[in-house]
Amino acid sequence: MGVRMKGADVAKAMKETLIEDVRKLKAKGIVPRLAIVRVGARPDDLAYERGASKRMEMVGIECTAVELPESIDQKAFEEEFRKVNDDPGIHGILLFCPLPGHLDEEPVKRMIHPLKDVDGMSPVNLAKIFSGDETGYAPCTAEAVIEMLDYYGLELTGKRVTVIGRSMVVGKPLSMLLLRRNATVTICHTRTADLAAACRNAEILVAAAGKANMVKKDMVAWDAVVADVGINVDEAGNLCGDVDYASVEPKAGYISPVPGGIGSITTSVLAKHVVRAASALGG
Ligand code: NAD
Repeated sequence: MGVRMKGADVAKAMKETLIEDVRKLKAKGIVPRLAIVRVGARPDDLAYERGASKRMEMVGIECTAVELPESIDQKAFEEEFRKVNDDPGIHGILLFCPLPGHLDEEPVKRMIHPLKDVDGMSPVNLAKIFSGDETGYAPCTAEAVIEMLDYYGLELTGKRVTVIGRSMVVGKPLSMLLLRRNATVTICHTRTADLAAACRNAEILVAAAGKANMVKKDMVAWDAVVADVGINVDEAGNLCGDVDYASVEPKAGYISPVPGGIGSITTSVLAKHVVRAASALGG
């Protein structure tokens, strides 16, 4: 039976450090502040926004919601984004993506101040992640996987790690973070010839494909560590991950559930990045 890796436990441990870090910043007259920029009102964005605001409040970070109408045009959107970007009182910016279809996020990815880019969307931060420069911000979800593995004391050096997914939000940056920690990384995607074999070969398997319950027990080695990043809805309408938890759990050494796993750590990583941004940018 696998050890259940609980996101809430990881977030709790991170909270103590964050509260202390925010206290030190405030003692220097710096009040860390995050701006959450949302276009429209997608239910998953609203849910994440509530979770993120609560987490910021819990550790003493101020949070400003910038709500823009779904009908906003590209020019007005960029103008609004620029105001937030130029505001010296804002240390970190989280922009909900994807944007509505008529808006292009590429110009703001290039515009966002790299030091305020706390969810790693700017090419500057991604280049840093890919070149092993630790001053860059990784996308929060990718880093949340590392936080979880570290919390459970799981060694990465020399380990065979398979990552399913090659997006710029999770799979690729996570693979670079794992490589930085001296893991031997295999990246799988929709064109991978024998996905099951690549997964079975892994001592640590990270699923970030966005396909409900696709990782079955015959794809997982005995005692493997299984981290599930996927957030999906199954046929019955329930939230589920990419891993078929019920069948894989008895075989795994460690396994993260969905919900209650990686997703519960993401906002803590976001808070950690805002603290870093506030110390870099000052008051
Ligand atoms: P994406 O759709 O951009 O990328 C999915 C990747 O998985 C692609 O690279 C694709 O090649 C690969 N893939 C898809 N189906 C596959 C298959 N059958 N076999 C092998 N590879 C396959 O998705 P994303 O943005 O990277 O997100 C991945 C998952 O993580 C989603 O379920 C998403 O909801 C979740 N997610 C969670 C958080 C969070 O916890 N806060 C944040 C971001 C994403």
